[in-house]
Amino acid sequence: MSLRERLAAQIRASGPLSLAQYMTACLHDPDFGYYAVRPALGEGGDFITAPLVSQMFGELIGLWAVETWTRMGRPARFRLVEMGPGDGTLMSDLLRAARLSPAFTEAADVWLVETSQPLHDRQRQALGDHLSWAGTLGEVPADAPMILVANELLDCLPVRQFVRTETGWAERMVGLDAAGALAFGLAAAPVLDRIAPVGAILETSPAQAAIADEIAARLVEAGGAALLIDYGRAVPGFGDTLQALCRHRKEGPLENPGEADLTVHADFPAVMAAAAAQGAQTPQILTQGEFLVRLGIGARAEALAAARPDLSGAIERQLERLVAPDQMGELFKVACIHSPGFVPPAFETCP
Ligand code: SAH
Repeated sequence: MSLRERLAAQIRASGPLSLAQYMTACLHDPDFGYYAVRPALGEGGDFITAPLVSQMFGELIGLWAVETWTRMGRPARFRLVEMGPGDGTLMSDLLRAARLSPAFTEAADVWLVETSQPLHDRQRQALGDHLSWAGTLGEVPADAPMILVANELLDCLPVRQFVRTETGWAERMVGLDAAGALAFGLAAAPVLDRIAPVGAILETSPAQAAIADEIAARLVEAGGAALLIDYGRAVPGFGDTLQALCRHRKEGPLENPGEADLTVHADFPAVMAAAAAQGAQTPQILTQGEFLVRLGIGARAEALAAARPDLSGAIERQLERLVAPDQMGELFKVACIHSPGFVPPAFETCP
């Protein structure tokens, strides 16, 4: 039985699924879920991410982490956590760059939070066994300060969608059409107090907010900072951002359940509101381009090109891809959540 058939049987038996339930099944079902069975990152896979575009991305985040740790007062022991580490490239580049501070490397207790067994195995191959793995952040001991990084994690957490109809808000559900195929439909929804024109779609992600809430609570309790990097909105807005990617091609989100990667935009305003409610600091969100330029990606690219003149064209293209406004530079945002008492690099307010 395929995931499509199983979901159809489930809908016939107990009614339509919320979009969040559908996404969770497509991404994490133990037998068929995309991340449980066939996550494929990279040029030859389904999607590519910033750490795979260039080593400069992880290296600069490594320097950011070292400077953040310094501003935290160089704690002798801290947890260096990555959530959703993919194939391990970001952590590998981060740790290599951080070697310039042996005291940082010595103090870091490295944890990877990963739900996918195939990716867990790839991370172990890439990074060796001198670090620890957890299935949830809650399993990472909370008795020391923390520096946390997550790139493209929020975008694969489930969302619910609400549609403004003539008669009020309705929730977008996944049901069956007359021929028995998966199809979108609407169900009565709780009353929402948002004013919007008929046809507007409101996305909410309790899962994104819950992660921010948990990260912020730990940072306030034990100190530290988190970087959440993702494509998404920096100001509240409406719109359907659900997208399915299979071999770098967009397809309908109901076409191939479990076979395509499903993503949504990160809802940064909701994420930052959840963090602020815990008492954490939430400086202004930067675009990925601003963040990397403030950390000195221009100089890093020049140094790499000087060391490898044969690769200077490729390095220039990688730089463009990461920071140019019409590439990843503006769509991707970098949000920082930190404990009171210091400000992490790149997030100082401009005079
Ligand atoms: N950060 C990597 C991979 C991004 S893909 C990169 O930038 O290349 C999303 C990653 O998040 C995968 O490793 C996926 O298995 C993981 N993931 C998905 N849901 C998760 C969850 N709820 N908790 C932790 N990791 C999760």
